[in-house]
Amino acid sequence: MRQLIAGNWKMHTTLAEAAALAAALVAAVRPAPPPCDLLICPPATALAAVAGVLAGGPIALGAQDCHSAAKGAHTGDLSAPMLRDAGAAWVILGHSERRADHGETDALVRTKAVAAAAAGLMPVLCVGESEAVRAAGRAEAVVAAQLAASLPNGFAGAVAYEPVWAIGSGRLPTAAEVAAMHAALRTALVARRGEPGGAVRILYGGSVKPDNAAALLALPEVGGALVGGASLAADSFLAIAQAAK
Ligand code: PEP
Repeated sequence: MRQLIAGNWKMHTTLAEAAALAAALVAAVRPAPPPCDLLICPPATALAAVAGVLAGGPIALGAQDCHSAAKGAHTGDLSAPMLRDAGAAWVILGHSERRADHGETDALVRTKAVAAAAAGLMPVLCVGESEAVRAAGRAEAVVAAQLAASLPNGFAGAVAYEPVWAIGSGRLPTAAEVAAMHAALRTALVARRGEPGGAVRILYGGSVKPDNAAALLALPEVGGALVGGASLAADSFLAIAQAAK
């Protein structure tokens, strides 16, 4: 399966900036398609506009979160059907920034993943350990437990392994640590889902940049990357995409 390079724009870009960045990506991939699947996840305010820019092209569109209910009295929230309606095909769920900022638990992430699937959205389900957990030698056990508790039955989407301490920090786990974690996640996915678990792409996320992407993307069981900061410029995002297998 082709690797998936996903850009998480977080709480960045005005409407005009989002449309311009998406247009730059579209213009670049038309003559030179990258050797991977591409996904961009702008803020929700820009989804519909960016959907228009991406229409008919190869770059997929995703949201950064959804509510677990399809509709209702939830001021300020957005449901999976609304995001689908705005043009999203994917949704990032359980990002560590949402777990930290909004107290999201594995159980909540699981209900969101169920809601996403019901609306036809593919989740990018994020898991990852804190620095203290890694230092205590418990990273694989903690991340496996996170996955077990947040993965819904019948899951179809991607999983993103994002060590919390590597996000936005410029620090990376070693190649051996990434490979070991991805192997553990693959084992857990296959144990849980059987054969379809072997096809779930496991993305690495955390300070992926053009100069480290090729080495990360060459590791076994790394099915792509979830990119934050470096996805905010077309050049760096596309350079990462060109490093895909
Ligand atoms: C992220 O937001 O998921 C992320 C990995 O950010 P960064 O690439 O900036 O570390």
